[in-house]
Amino acid sequence: MTLVQLQQRIKELEEQLKQERIKHEGVQQPVRDKISQMSSEVVDSNPYSRLMALKRMGIVDNYEKIREFTVAVVGVGGVGSVTAEMLTRCGIVLFPCSCSRLMALKRMGIVDNYEKIREFTVAVVGVGGVGSVTAEMLTRCGIGKLLLFDYDKVELANMNRLFFQPHQAGLSKVEAAAKTLVSINPDVAMETYNYNITTMDNFQDFMNRISHSSLSGGPVDLVLSCVDNFEARMAINSACNELNMSWFESGVSENAVSGHIQFIVPGDTACFACAPPLIVASNIDEKTLKRDGVCAASLPTTMGIVAGFLVQNTLKYLLGFGEVTYYLGYSALTDFFPTMRLRPNTMCDDNHCRQRQVEFQAKPPVQKEETGAAVSGGNEVVHEDNDWGITLVDETIEVEDSRHGDVALGLVAGIKTAYSIPAPEVSSTLTNEANLDSSISLEELMAQMKSI
Ligand SMILES: [Zn+2]
Repeated sequence: MTLVQLQQRIKELEEQLKQERIKHEGVQQPVRDKISQMSSEVVDSNPYSRLMALKRMGIVDNYEKIREFTVAVVGVGGVGSVTAEMLTRCGIVLFPCSCSRLMALKRMGIVDNYEKIREFTVAVVGVGGVGSVTAEMLTRCGIGKLLLFDYDKVELANMNRLFFQPHQAGLSKVEAAAKTLVSINPDVAMETYNYNITTMDNFQDFMNRISHSSLSGGPVDLVLSCVDNFEARMAINSACNELNMSWFESGVSENAVSGHIQFIVPGDTACFACAPPLIVASNIDEKTLKRDGVCAASLPTTMGIVAGFLVQNTLKYLLGFGEVTYYLGYSALTDFFPTMRLRPNTMCDDNHCRQRQVEFQAKPPVQKEETGAAVSGGNEVVHEDNDWGITLVDETIEVEDSRHGDVALGLVAGIKTAYSIPAPEVSSTLTNEANLDSSISLEELMAQMKSI
C-alpha cells in the first residue's frame, strides 16, 4: 500500500468513526424537550395523557403533584431497576443510587429442571403495555422461542408504560421489541408478525404459525393474549378452541386500576365465548368510563403487575411447579386479588369449544385428574401476613352453564362480568360450590377492609 493510499484509508476510517459517533449519540439524545406542564391533551407527542386521564376519571385528585416528589431507589437490581423505570414513566423525579440466579431455582428445589425452558415456544399476541413486558420477562428467563404478533407502531404517548424507548417512536412494535429482546438475550429465537390477526387472511396465517412454529416444528407450547380489544380476544379464542391449545387471556381495565389473567384449557374450563369476560369491580361508575373519543387511562404499575402474573403462571405451567391459577384478578384500589374457576358452557356458541368439552368428558378419570392437579383455581389460598387471623381456605367457585348474570354465575365477591348475555329459554343447572371455610365470611372480610 502506498503512502497516499494509507492516508486515504485513514481519512475513510476517521469519517466512519465520526458517523458511528453521531449515530450513537443520536440514540442517547432525548427525542423531546422537557415538558413544563403535564397535560391531558391526547396527542402523539404527549406521554402524560394516559396518566392525566386518572384525574379526569376521578381516581386521583391531582396527578401533576407527582412532579413535586423525589424518591430514592436504593439498589438498582432486578426489582430496583424496574421500580425506577416505572417511576420514571409515571413522571416522578428520581434520585438514583447505585446474575445464574434463575438456575438457583433448581438448586433450591423450586423447579426440577430449569434448563427445559430453552425447549419451549410461546406466542405473545399484542405487544403493548402488558405484552411487551411479558415478552421481556420471558426473554430474560431464557425462553426457547418467542412469536410476537402486533400491527401497531410505537408512539411517544405510550411512554407512560414500560419497555419501549422514545427513540423507537414510529417503528413497528414487533420490530422494535425484537431488536431490544435479541440484544437482551441473543439465545432466544424470535419471529415477528406485523399484522392484525382478526382479518381473514391474517387469521389463517396466525393459525398456521401457532400450530407449526415451535422449535421442533409443532404447535407452540402456550399462547398469551395481551391484546386490548374484544375482536382480537375472540380470534385467539376460536383459534385455540379449533387447534385444542391452552392459552392465557389478560386484561387491564380502562381506568387503569384493575386487571386480571385467565387460563383457558379448551373443554376443561370456560372459553372466552362460554361466558362474558370477567373483570374485577373497581368501585367506579361505569358511565364515567365508556365515553366516546375519550382515551383510556393506563399505568405502568398495573400493566407490570398483570404481566408479572401472566409470566409467573406461564413459568409454573411450562416448568411444572406450584399451581397455575385459572382466574386471578387484581384491584389496585383495595389491593384485592380474587381467584376462581369457571366450568365450560355446554351451550357455547363456539362449536369447537363444545367438541372439546365432549372430548374432555370422554377422557379417563386419571387423565382428567392429571390436568386438575397441574392447575388450580386457588384452592390453597394462604395469606402469610394475616393481620386479621383469618384463613380463606377456598374462595374458588366452580360454575357450569354460565349465562344468567353475575349472581347466578356465582362469581366471588369483587368480580363481575364485563357485560351480560340474555338468558337462554332453556333453564340450566348451576352447581355453585362456595366453600368459604372460615369463621368470618368473605362479605364481612370485605366490609372490614373497606372500613380501614
Ligand atoms: Zn366455549
